[in-house]
Amino acid sequence: MTEPTFSRRQALIAGAALPFVPGLIATPAHAAADLQGASLPSFNRFVLGGFEVTTLLAGTRTVDNPTEIFGLTTDPAEFAAVSAAAFLPTDKAQFFFTPTLVNTGAELVLFDTGLAAEGMTAALANAGISPEQIDVVVITHMHGDHIGGLMKDGAPTFAKARYVTGAIENNHWSGAANEGYDTMVRPLLDKMTFLDDGGSVASGITAMAAFGHTPGHMTYMLQSDGAGLVIVADTANHYVWSLAHPDWEVRFDADKAAAAATRRAVFGMIAADRLPFIGYHMPFPAYGYVEADGNGFRYVPASYQMMMTG
Ligand SMILES: [Zn+2]
Repeated sequence: MTEPTFSRRQALIAGAALPFVPGLIATPAHAAADLQGASLPSFNRFVLGGFEVTTLLAGTRTVDNPTEIFGLTTDPAEFAAVSAAAFLPTDKAQFFFTPTLVNTGAELVLFDTGLAAEGMTAALANAGISPEQIDVVVITHMHGDHIGGLMKDGAPTFAKARYVTGAIENNHWSGAANEGYDTMVRPLLDKMTFLDDGGSVASGITAMAAFGHTPGHMTYMLQSDGAGLVIVADTANHYVWSLAHPDWEVRFDADKAAAAATRRAVFGMIAADRLPFIGYHMPFPAYGYVEADGNGFRYVPASYQMMMTG
């Protein structure tokens, strides 16, 4: 009997240390494991100075035809080329809705509330937090995917919280005959305070005007023990189409020119200061960095920067 020849790949599969015995490599006797579907983490917590910061995935879904949202005025061939270069399809996109929880050591501060209370409280529960523990709810702007978790069946989701939002944002929506505002925000007005640019939510949490996506859209700077991070909310809603091409018009931006100018200003500052940021619609866990690149910015997802303890 001649020694059979077999490839290096087959040798690796068979196990190089085992003698080759013809007929021994047979169908495994054990049953196949059940398919379990893709996994979906729902929270990611890291330390920022004396703060703990948790991003919470309150919802995610696949959306058809993102060109109609992010490529409104973009040449379709360019949109396709940019997407292909980033290994992204153009017929669909994955949307993420990621509120942020900050434990300052004194208070639990939640930024935005997802599409509905169920998704918000489920993500909080996975992170070990009950709605009653939330001290402050900050609303960056009043689109439905940010205010949708404020109320459930006519009752506040966060029974003990006070609320903070931008004064210009509230003034706009309170006069707009908007059902979402009337259902989710108006019942909470007596517990709500209003900030302008530079206003303070709590020690180390400062509002920064970032108008354009909505009339009073705000970002928030976190600063603790020399560490900083910017919660950019919806300043950019896609990590390639809106960051690499800040001027591409986005359907959800109320004032498209102002939104583009704000993208350049906010991410220009973040790139120059080399700060981490959290983006509500960035791919979960929704935080990373940007560097100036060409006529826009290159998104650099965080890896282990926030994990090191030594
Ligand atoms: Zn949004």
